[in-house]
Amino acid sequence: MSANRKNRAVVLERPESLAVHELSVPAPGPGSVVAKVEYGGVCGSDVHMSKGEFQLPYAIVLGHEGVGVIEELGEGVTHDYAGNALQAGDRIYWCPIAPCHKCWYCTVEKDFSSCTNATWFGPVDRPTWGSYAEYVTLPTGAAFFRIPDGTPSEAVIAFGCALPAVLQGIERAGGIKPLSNVVVQGCGPIGLAAVMMARLSGAATVTAIDASPLRLALAQKFGASAVLDLSATSAEERLESVRRNSGGRGADIVIEGTGHRSAFQEGMQLCARNASYLLIGLWASQGEQSFDPSQIVQRNLKLVGTQYAQGRHYYEAMKIASLHHQTLPFEALITHRCGLHEARQAFDLVSSGKAGKVVMRP
Ligand SMILES: [Zn+2]
Ligand SMILES: [Zn+2]
Repeated sequence: MSANRKNRAVVLERPESLAVHELSVPAPGPGSVVAKVEYGGVCGSDVHMSKGEFQLPYAIVLGHEGVGVIEELGEGVTHDYAGNALQAGDRIYWCPIAPCHKCWYCTVEKDFSSCTNATWFGPVDRPTWGSYAEYVTLPTGAAFFRIPDGTPSEAVIAFGCALPAVLQGIERAGGIKPLSNVVVQGCGPIGLAAVMMARLSGAATVTAIDASPLRLALAQKFGASAVLDLSATSAEERLESVRRNSGGRGADIVIEGTGHRSAFQEGMQLCARNASYLLIGLWASQGEQSFDPSQIVQRNLKLVGTQYAQGRHYYEAMKIASLHHQTLPFEALITHRCGLHEARQAFDLVSSGKAGKVVMRP
């Protein structure tokens, strides 16, 4: 069976060159699994990757967010990474990065997202786990979790890598305290995940900023207590509004999920004294942004960065989807479903800033 399995996959051959290739899918090696992809999430990072903004081992299969159905278990795989028994036909959600478990960050600091030898994208001449494809082969060490019966796959892929990234970011920022005032910049999947987590954490106010009416409406459904339309308000008006809702002080935590460096200076201004400014969306470099560092000192600010999430955050994200998909509109977040030949259109949708979640449906 395995020898004949063909895999139609979206291959980034080199920057700006996308094509659907037919690859083969060998039987999984010891410790790995082959899964049939149900949904591959389209992330803003994919758009940056497609433009060649990162060094990648071309040609690669794109897609680092996915849910799928176990097709074949490699030797020794009997359980998921949370200890749940596993068999062919089970649905899984995976972390796309396999840490080495041998470096300083993995062993001493126990921070797998800083692993210096992590396995990420592999070239297409080997089994890969890019999720813009019919099949993925998850390597040993890439954590995956069985999706509980009764939890729709759509609820899990709705936030893709965004909810895990937000969970890790909030962890690094020291949490969101109950009754705090939260501002979220940008209401794409990262921003909406941040709005939801702020609400679930018991924030007093959650103010969401975006230019898209669709995204602002979603932010309200996920728990924003106020929304500010970027295209209909000035920076001064937004600052005034946030201060008015927070006893004149500003936000206790500002979470950036825009991917636009122009958000940085405004985010700094929206911070109250002693606030944290958590940067998540500004992953891809867009050049320098000037600011006065004395603002950090004089107002006791904490700047927190966070990059790709770790296995445990994927597990937590899946549990949150399981617990809340019936009361929060996870599935409504998915606004566009694209076929493998529509990757370019999917990127345009993500870049437009007007879509909710865009997914590939191989
Ligand atoms: Zn991503
Ligand atoms: Zn490591």
